[in-house]
Amino acid sequence: MAKRISIRGIKKNLTYTVEELADVTHTAQPTVRNWIREGLPVIDDIRPTLIMGFYALDFLDKRQAKAKRPMAFNELYCLRCRCPRTPYGMMVDYYPDTVSGPRLMALCGECGCACYRTINAAHLPDFSRVLDIAVRGSE
Ligand SMILES: [Zn+2]
Repeated sequence: MAKRISIRGIKKNLTYTVEELADVTHTAQPTVRNWIREGLPVIDDIRPTLIMGFYALDFLDKRQAKAKRPMAFNELYCLRCRCPRTPYGMMVDYYPDTVSGPRLMALCGECGCACYRTINAAHLPDFSRVLDIAVRGSE
């Protein structure tokens, strides 16, 4: 999955060189050149290459929307596989009070590594329909 790009620094009415756009998005210049190859519009073929802020915002919004993929109720994010996985034996531990909120923890069905998912406690019944959930006490 593509890394989340910081688009907060892009002003829609400014033009950016490749270097400036890389700076405000905290990426490298080759990354910006890849975006241009993927279809980010540039003003013309004259150097330096200039990019309108609103084109960059539009392009990066669409790109991030495409990368977003909602997980199913039987999936947790595996840190080693770097993708959503179904837990081993569909067994999941539920920790209601962690720093980041209610959380599910399980072992990856593919690699056996730890998988996590921070959830909304109100959705717990939806998860328990497909997963075997054991509630663990708060520490
Ligand atoms: Zn895994």
